[in-house]
Amino acid sequence: MNFEPTEFTEQITRAAKDFAQQHIRPYVMEWDEKQEFPIDTFRELGKLRMMGVLVPEEYGGSGMGYFEYKTVIEEISKVCGSIGLSVAAHNSLCTGHILTFANEEQKKKYLPRLATGQWIGAWGLTEPNTGSDAGNMKCAAAKDGMDWVLNGTKNWITHGKSGDVAVVICRTGEPRTSSNATAFIVEKGTAGFAGGKKENKLGMRASETAEMIFDNCRIPDANRIGEVGEGFRQALKVLDGGRISIACLALGIAKGAYEASLDYSKERYQFDKPISSFQAISFKLADMATEIEAAELLTLQACDLKNRKQSVTKEAAMAKYYAGEVAVRVANEAVQIFAGYGYTKDFPVEKYYRDAKLCTIGEGTSEIQKIVISREVLKD
Ligand SMILES: Cc1cc2nc3c(=O)[nH]c(=O)nc-3n(C[C@H](O)[C@H](O)[C@H](O)COP(=O)(O)OP(=O)(O)OC[C@H]3O[C@@H](n4cnc5c(N)ncnc54)[C@H](O)[C@@H]3O)c2cc1C
Repeated sequence: MNFEPTEFTEQITRAAKDFAQQHIRPYVMEWDEKQEFPIDTFRELGKLRMMGVLVPEEYGGSGMGYFEYKTVIEEISKVCGSIGLSVAAHNSLCTGHILTFANEEQKKKYLPRLATGQWIGAWGLTEPNTGSDAGNMKCAAAKDGMDWVLNGTKNWITHGKSGDVAVVICRTGEPRTSSNATAFIVEKGTAGFAGGKKENKLGMRASETAEMIFDNCRIPDANRIGEVGEGFRQALKVLDGGRISIACLALGIAKGAYEASLDYSKERYQFDKPISSFQAISFKLADMATEIEAAELLTLQACDLKNRKQSVTKEAAMAKYYAGEVAVRVANEAVQIFAGYGYTKDFPVEKYYRDAKLCTIGEGTSEIQKIVISREVLKD
């Protein structure tokens, strides 16, 4: 496999890097402290066509592939994991669900607004009592004439309050059956739909995470995505792509923490020597670099398969699982290399340390990735 970046991918990398340096880096700690979701930054990213990276040009998107998508998420996440997470969730979950499963009319209506960042997307699967066990959801949709009436709560939803449009997976059949859920599109402002509690989080604090509450929320049948009963299977496919996003997010965080540590290890002197000259520190850097490259290769493999429209369930889970764990280990070692200074908010590594943990939780925990991978390897 040849993963050498093309001239085009390098151009996208430069554009994402420049944007992150100019429009994100100066505000990272302010947004983090205030837990502020900087919505205008997303509109600007939309103007650069980074909010619809995988959306074909005919629907207002960039029409790029997974290698370009990887570099966009990674470059942003090197600077701020929160913005990386929000861009990833917008692109791969809400927009990705509509792109993959919606009908032509729905695509024409929603994709141009999402791909240009005019509208921010949310995607609701998780509920207070069903996270890993998402198929056991309680939020229900009942058919009433030509409408559906939604009742229940989704929580932990990225852009649950600020999202202009949400794809919501609701129960429409008997519990514990494989075809008991259906996906719907719900617009902000629909009667009976409201954002609820915003979570006060350890990390990823500039990425809004909130409840979505449905109280007799009536939507037309035209907002149903695909057939009744297909919703959970659709969600699992969307998550295959979503897991590649989280792998890219994790890679960005890991690289950001590693690069900061590498520089610091050469500048910080103890016992009249740079700390990089102590084998205890240089071996940490060696482990960090090796694990990042291994995570990157797994991620590139998943991107390549996705570009070629091959099944990616196992490879996306492997990339997400490994890269997520690597991000946590690398960020932990980064704090150790910075030591006391790494424990303060004056240096960047404490934020990488807090943000990285999400990568082993969101879009399926590391334990759930191992279930997915083991099922795949035991198939035959
Ligand atoms: C910042 C953030 C953003 C998010 N954004 C979204 C979003 O946009 N949309 C959305 O729908 N969801 C979103 N989520 C929810 C996320 O996907 C869930 O948190 C995740 O799937 C885990 O569910 P849970 O937190 O309920 O954990 P639980 O499922 O309660 O798991 C608790 C523990 O038990 C383990 N466990 C559970 N089942 C098993 C099993 N069968 N075998 C072994 N171990 C098991 C888990 O690995 C974990 O360690 C977000 C979460 C966060 C933190």
